Amino acid sequence: MAAPRARLGTVEAEGSSGRQGNSGVEVVVSSDPAPPAPLCPHGPTLLFVKANQGKEETRRFYACSACRDRKDCNFFQWEDEKLSGARLAAREAHNRRCQPPLSRSQCVERYLKFIELPLSQRKFCQRCQQLLLPDDEEKHHKHQIVGDISITQLKRPSQLLYPLENKKTNAQYLFADRSCLFLVDLLSTLGFRRVLCVGTPRLHELIRLKASGDKKSNVKSLLLDIDFRYSQFYMEDSFCHYNMFNHHFFDGKAALEVCRTFLQKDKGEGVIMVTDPPFGGLVEPLALTFKKLIAMWKEGQSQDNSHKELPIFWIFPYFFESRICQFFPSFCMLDYQVDYDNHALYKHGKTGRKQSPVRIFTNIPPNKIILPIEEGYRFCPLCQRYVSLENQHCEHCNSCTSKDGRKWNHCFLCKKCVKPSWIHCNICNHCALPDHSCNSPKHGCFICGELDHKRSTCPNIFTSKKVNKAVRKQKQRKSNKMKMETTKGQSMNHTSVTRKKKRRERAHQYLCS
Ligand code: SAH
Ligand code: ZN
Ligand code: ZN
Ligand code: ZN
Ligand code: ZN
Repeated sequence: MAAPRARLGTVEAEGSSGRQGNSGVEVVVSSDPAPPAPLCPHGPTLLFVKANQGKEETRRFYACSACRDRKDCNFFQWEDEKLSGARLAAREAHNRRCQPPLSRSQCVERYLKFIELPLSQRKFCQRCQQLLLPDDEEKHHKHQIVGDISITQLKRPSQLLYPLENKKTNAQYLFADRSCLFLVDLLSTLGFRRVLCVGTPRLHELIRLKASGDKKSNVKSLLLDIDFRYSQFYMEDSFCHYNMFNHHFFDGKAALEVCRTFLQKDKGEGVIMVTDPPFGGLVEPLALTFKKLIAMWKEGQSQDNSHKELPIFWIFPYFFESRICQFFPSFCMLDYQVDYDNHALYKHGKTGRKQSPVRIFTNIPPNKIILPIEEGYRFCPLCQRYVSLENQHCEHCNSCTSKDGRKWNHCFLCKKCVKPSWIHCNICNHCALPDHSCNSPKHGCFICGELDHKRSTCPNIFTSKKVNKAVRKQKQRKSNKMKMETTKGQSMNHTSVTRKKKRRERAHQYLCS
């Protein structure tokens, strides 16, 4: 039977505030040794528990680590469920069927052939998101094809491929040029020679672009990403098909060794990990994964370096600060606002800047990180770090306290600085929005209970929706006495999905395992 498991601060979708009358889903972290989790096409699944306030812990179940929508991966298994041999075999076959059609080395072979072709024969199928070799053209003749793919285009795949924006799986939001250039410059100023890019395809390509154009800056980059389309553009030593929610390398040991070698080169000197995970993802499995990457780097360290930490940039919204620091106490949050190209909410508009909530969390001392004055940052000599211009140093808190880039005000009753829109409520005995209702003191996000955002912008919304849906569906299936194992092609809602969307979904299924 199942070994005892520790629930280490597992409240994720629910948030740590544990709102009354709310129910949420938590990820359960196994204490070793734990029985191995069953596999879905995205590697080992995660164990979840749906917690209901006031009730005993309910049954636990395994679900996909990477996809927060059943449409993308419908794996579901109760923790104590025993599967028949036939069903296990069917699952294995399904997992195999879902893997990319080409192996990593086949991709590399194709790439090498492709770059040998004359410009006029270098074509890219937009529909299939695939570089075409002359033999493939027949199959794609009805598709939209782009011709004359230049070497420059090949070096910028994030511009050639469309971003996979489906929030519940890839949530691919690409850095705006100025943020990406800022990062590249910062990395080289800090003297890093190798960058492990975990879910940062645009940063990866910009580092490589800069290195190839500038002999002095010979910075190497290795991209780990679940988006298999990128494997068409890189050799084995610069891209691994990887799931950052369970530390799963889709191409097995060989890929893991690529990563290990990269981290441990020069006794682990000069390397940094930069990651920009989907914001709907769970912090806990991400933290576990990063700890595994850190351990891998540590193995290559000599004994006297054992106190050293692997430098990390974790790019994530500011309201995750306490969660991230809980797992990585040495991290601090920089004021720098990360901008994106294809994210309406997080990109700065034409007129002035829209505030982006996305920040960099790092274990590099913040006084080493110079933020651009021309973009509205200044150095605070008291805090010894760069902050947003409007972020004023509070003499009572003895720090520049704003988290969102606006000027915050000190409340003497709360004994801390609060958002400018908040006032102190004597009934609730803390600061809140003026129109809050005193009956529900925690009137913040309905899903996670945080006060600084509403349900619609909750970073956990997808997780909670997915698993609630999963549980609901499971119950429904049982009552219908239907067989649990779903067969291929769970029918899509044809009326509501536009053609374009369908095309994208097809490509997504095909390309992104
Ligand atoms: N701002 C970054 C992209 C961040 S978007 C840039 O411009 O480079 C999130 C990235 O994480 C995407 O590339 C997406 O494909 C990848 N991703 C999403 N889920 C993942 C998973 N489970 N494992 C690994 N990578 C994942
Ligand atoms: Zn095609
Ligand atoms: Zn203050
Ligand atoms: Zn107050
Ligand atoms: Zn929330």
